[in-house]
Amino acid sequence: MEIVSLETKRKIIPLDRPFVTSVRKVTSIENVEVSVMLEDGTVGKGAAAPALAVTGESPSSIEAVINGPASEALAGAQSEALQENVRRLKQNCYGNSSAKAAVEMAVIDAFVQQRRCSLLQWLGGTPSVFENDMTISMEEPAQMKNTAEQYINEGFRYLKMKVGDDLKKDYQRIRSIAEVLPQGVMLRIDANQGWTSKEAIVFIQQLEKEKIPLQFIEQPVAADDWAGLKKVTESTRTPIMADESCKTYKDARRLIEWHACDMINIKLMKCGGLLEAWKIADIAEAAGIPCMMGSMMESTISASPAAELALAHPNIKMVDLDAPKWLQENTVTAVSFEGHQIKAMNPAQSAPIKYEGGELR
Ligand SMILES: [Mg+2]
Repeated sequence: MEIVSLETKRKIIPLDRPFVTSVRKVTSIENVEVSVMLEDGTVGKGAAAPALAVTGESPSSIEAVINGPASEALAGAQSEALQENVRRLKQNCYGNSSAKAAVEMAVIDAFVQQRRCSLLQWLGGTPSVFENDMTISMEEPAQMKNTAEQYINEGFRYLKMKVGDDLKKDYQRIRSIAEVLPQGVMLRIDANQGWTSKEAIVFIQQLEKEKIPLQFIEQPVAADDWAGLKKVTESTRTPIMADESCKTYKDARRLIEWHACDMINIKLMKCGGLLEAWKIADIAEAAGIPCMMGSMMESTISASPAAELALAHPNIKMVDLDAPKWLQENTVTAVSFEGHQIKAMNPAQSAPIKYEGGELR
């Protein structure tokens, strides 16, 4: 079936509470939604979530890429030729990973609709459940502790803490939350590149001495400080996860060769799409490196396919897909983000999804 056109729509979605990390404070997001139209009227949907500090893309640059080179790459292409279409997309658009991820997920959405199956089914997964985490914004220690207690009461077993602006305060933040952690609840610490390797080693070793229940430490050092990341990985017992250091599968391959990390955080917006994400999970699996599926501040339009891939791939052992839970509005998709779990619905049981005039209702 011929791909007739691509359309974009910018959408501002307010958050229901501010999201604060060591590099930014966000109160609303602006996503770029993409529709891929086939000649029989099928509409595939995707979305890009700009994160200028990570991928160098803005809503305007994403729109320009989709309406320019990405549309040129796919106009007149056959939707069945999925690999060829993704190859063309990559060839026409160097970098611009979020724009490519959005277009690819829309192309794949149209592709699976034509096969009358869900993305999860096409990937060979079955309806199942993943334990989701909840992120605690970087605030004063007492406030973070209160927030942690609230999420613990809601049943979350994994709490992801944002730290990285001030080592002394980071220590107080982690200590204060550790005080209220019940048995079986673990911390995921994301420094968002906030520490030097020397700082990180001393800091993490101290947390280990105090037996703080850490599942992993994410991106302790600058994205391009691979030598520092390796040093931290070698010097601590706690698993070290690469996030901003690992964008594409080529990054993943080199990080693995360097023995620079113990885990990898895969995000569609960093790697450029579902097919590349699958490859990262594959090569990491060969090296015994478990992966987590994460996201930027994204709506269900892009978090849902990320969750389906996570549920289907055997080496994606963790998810960090709480982003839709921060948004004031979300689209109904084949994945439920309710409570502390992510559930992929059996298509027969999920809410009916109808396409009317190109809009998902
Ligand atoms: Mg991160």
